[in-house]
Amino acid sequence: MLLSELTTLRVGGQAERIVEATTADELVDAVLDAQSRGEHWIVLGGGSNVLVGDEGVPGTVILVRSRGVERLPDVEGSRRPIRLRVQAGEPWDALVAHTVDQGWAGVEALSGIPGSTGAAPIQNIGAYGQELAESLVSVEVLDLISGERRLVPAPELRLAYRTSAIKQGWPVVVLSVELALEVNDDARSRPVAYAQLADSLGVEIGDRALLAGVRSATLALRAGKGMVLDEHDPDSVSAGSFFTNPIVSESFARTLPPEAPRWAQQPDPPALAVPLGAEPAPPPPPVESTVKLSAAWLIEHSGITRGFALPGSRASVSKKHTLALTNPHGTATADEIAQLARYIQTRVMSEFGVALHPEPVFINQQL
Ligand SMILES: Cc1cc2nc3c(=O)[nH]c(=O)nc-3n(C[C@H](O)[C@H](O)[C@H](O)COP(=O)(O)OP(=O)(O)OC[C@H]3O[C@@H](n4cnc5c(N)ncnc54)[C@H](O)[C@@H]3O)c2cc1C
Repeated sequence: MLLSELTTLRVGGQAERIVEATTADELVDAVLDAQSRGEHWIVLGGGSNVLVGDEGVPGTVILVRSRGVERLPDVEGSRRPIRLRVQAGEPWDALVAHTVDQGWAGVEALSGIPGSTGAAPIQNIGAYGQELAESLVSVEVLDLISGERRLVPAPELRLAYRTSAIKQGWPVVVLSVELALEVNDDARSRPVAYAQLADSLGVEIGDRALLAGVRSATLALRAGKGMVLDEHDPDSVSAGSFFTNPIVSESFARTLPPEAPRWAQQPDPPALAVPLGAEPAPPPPPVESTVKLSAAWLIEHSGITRGFALPGSRASVSKKHTLALTNPHGTATADEIAQLARYIQTRVMSEFGVALHPEPVFINQQL
């Protein structure tokens, strides 16, 4: 089977062997089996955050199709009493729709993100002022070193802006995730934390809105940017945002045009633990503050317009959003996508001196 049929960018060559895992046990067995045979293998959920090479993938592609949403006993007295254990193969957006229907708040602004629930912690999915990290309690994983299943509390995953220990190479497969959600009066959302979403809801930042309203406003905003999978929208044949927003030092950011959007980042608190009996260490040198830049702004202001394509290439920048690289007719190759990405990186680097880093995972494909 061609992997282009299993990825939202619709690129990727042949898979040597495909195994579908429909339960957590089958997922464990499939991974351990592939490992024991010493062959190359990968797991794939919805294929919405990968760029798979035109040569395809040797060995086994394990499709995560385990389903199930279990309500755990409520945690009385907690701000987030509703606990759910969700199998890795549950489609993420269907889960969000279910939580909104039930009146549970915490992931409503993550409506419309494609892919599987098991992949959500890999890059700590986020959008419209919310991140998975705010609702994630733990994940059950298969540890690929020990071959054992274990429960990992969310802090151990080192979730950060579009990354985690897993994305950085910690060898585990996610089997299920546990979420903690709020119940508010009148089925209200978490405080709205994104200006564009607040505007479209007619509320102020920090206000709560009806959950169903937040979901529909988010879906409408996303559709306007080609960020909801839609077979009638060629701009949605993508992997979502192709580049992360760069994080740079405040002093470097001052060298950029003043109109370039930027958001101050919270510095990591210094490690203050002192072993018993030891002299307190001198205070650490101050850490320079960092700011997050808008990758979309940098791309647009380096001269790349919406809909831009290299001569003769079938890959193009989305007509709705410069951050998405698309395969609008489904005929582009992974190489063409990568070539366009390199061109954009070069333009932004030469115009602003900023390195753009890709968000999707590259599988058998170089940038
Ligand atoms: C139109 C569109 C809009 C998007 N918008 C957003 C957005 O707003 N915010 C955002 O954060 N992302 C967004 N994305 C990116 C993507 O949807 C998310 O990253 C999603 O979580 C990927 O899920 P998936 O199941 O498709 O992962 P896949 O693409 O199948 O896999 C991604 C990576 O995770 C690994 N992986 C998958 N499942 C597991 C598992 N169970 N255990 C271990 N590793 C696993 C894979 O091996 C691969 O390395 C968007 C994508 C598209 C196409």
